[in-house]
Amino acid sequence: MPSSKTRIAIVGGGVSGLVVARHVVAKLDIYSLMLFEQTDQIGGTWVYTDETDLDKHGLLIHSSMYKNLRTNIPKEIMAIPDFPFQDSEGPSFTHHRVIREYLMAYAKHFNLHPYIKLNTLVKRAEPETTRNGRTLWTVTYQSLETKVETTKTFDAVVLCNGHYSVGRVPHIPGIESFRGRRVHSHQYRVPETYAGKRVCILGASWSGIDIALEVSQYAAKVYLSHNLPEQFDSKMSSNVEQRPGVESVRGNMFTFRDGSTAEVDDFIFCTGYKFTYPFMSTKVEIRTDDDHVEPIYKHLVHIDYTNLFFMGLPALVIPFPCFHIQAQYVLAILENRVKLPSPQQMREEFEREKKSLLDQGIPLRHINKLKDRQWAYYDEMAAAANVPSLAPVIKKIMDHVFQMRDADFTTYKNYQYRIIDSENFSMSYCKPC
Ligand SMILES: Cc1cc2nc3c(=O)[nH]c(=O)nc-3n(C[C@H](O)[C@H](O)[C@H](O)COP(=O)(O)OP(=O)(O)OC[C@H]3O[C@@H](n4cnc5c(N)ncnc54)[C@H](O)[C@@H]3O)c2cc1C
Repeated sequence: MPSSKTRIAIVGGGVSGLVVARHVVAKLDIYSLMLFEQTDQIGGTWVYTDETDLDKHGLLIHSSMYKNLRTNIPKEIMAIPDFPFQDSEGPSFTHHRVIREYLMAYAKHFNLHPYIKLNTLVKRAEPETTRNGRTLWTVTYQSLETKVETTKTFDAVVLCNGHYSVGRVPHIPGIESFRGRRVHSHQYRVPETYAGKRVCILGASWSGIDIALEVSQYAAKVYLSHNLPEQFDSKMSSNVEQRPGVESVRGNMFTFRDGSTAEVDDFIFCTGYKFTYPFMSTKVEIRTDDDHVEPIYKHLVHIDYTNLFFMGLPALVIPFPCFHIQAQYVLAILENRVKLPSPQQMREEFEREKKSLLDQGIPLRHINKLKDRQWAYYDEMAAAANVPSLAPVIKKIMDHVFQMRDADFTTYKNYQYRIIDSENFSMSYCKPC
């Protein structure tokens, strides 16, 4: 018997999965929903754990949170637009515990728990074309407690499995000879364990800088190794030395690209993450080379399977509000309020945009880093779905945060932002916590 409701499967109970669920649950007259979460809690990467390798079921630990992490976006604009943070007084750049509590409150407020299956791993998602040409999805999931596998059919699958769990680790000649501790930022938790050590941190993006700042409070020496043009030394403590990328390793001796050398006890890779969809059928073309997921229309819809959605692909965005708009766009497609072009037209548009960005000198791996392009993206997606986009004040605050961070990344979190109205905000100094 065909179902009269559109059956939606959501893979993952982090923020993006919860946000999609919130919009689906608001329309249960037309949708049915199952959200699968492999861990025993919702919140995804915001669920801190001291563990770094495997969980009690032998699965890779998902969360990449470290113990002292404070957000790098003020909570006033990081919030999901229809659910502001309750505590408007606390610091803007909050500890990760606050975000986790906020997500639990969100799930409770929108009554999402009845639709969430915890301890449930999605093992396979297979497309199946019916006689009338529709694609259905058979999703096989396993209860990690009973080990029982179940297969169910869905009309749409929304992938919310996160992409900050599988670290990208470049090969460095001679690294096998290194006898010290070697971790990816995914496994980094606390700085105290580096007390008195000589630590090399490879990569100076958000995590590299953040981790260098805290490790340098304990380590004897930190070599911040990267190939960026920026100089960070003057703002770091005096035991931090900037070096170019690591050329090779021999035992504990690291050679950097400028020929300089240093003895190193511990090595932390802050070299980013890989997109992975291990449960997806091989029938579905998904290319993830060079950090670019293809073939995806509007960073969200699979071009050949328009009932398969990839949440959260854009980087250098404000993730929670971005999910809020993407989720509503997904529903607008399913309800036929957004009419997608033909697969061929989508592919042409996708290739055209990609070429134009490559021609502007943007490497493939940075195409999904929207940064200044994010505002046009939100406006376009929101207009198509006929839902509000983000208020101008959100961009103004984000721009301000970037300016403050560029001026001094050691102090930019010591400020409190307040939204006055859709255009204006205020800012005041607050003591570092
Ligand atoms: C260290 C760090 C700091 C960050 N700081 C900020 C910040 O300050 N502000 C900000 O807005 N964003 C920040 N982010 C970005 C953050 O990733 C996003 O805000 C957001 O949490 C991503 O949510 P998600 O739902 O896409 O993924 P996740 O939170 O990763 O959730 C994915 C979920 O899917 C589940 N899952 C995966 N595979 C399966 C499967 N096969 N079956 C069932 N379940 C599965 C996982 O267990 C997990 O619960 C940070 C990220 C990291 C790693």
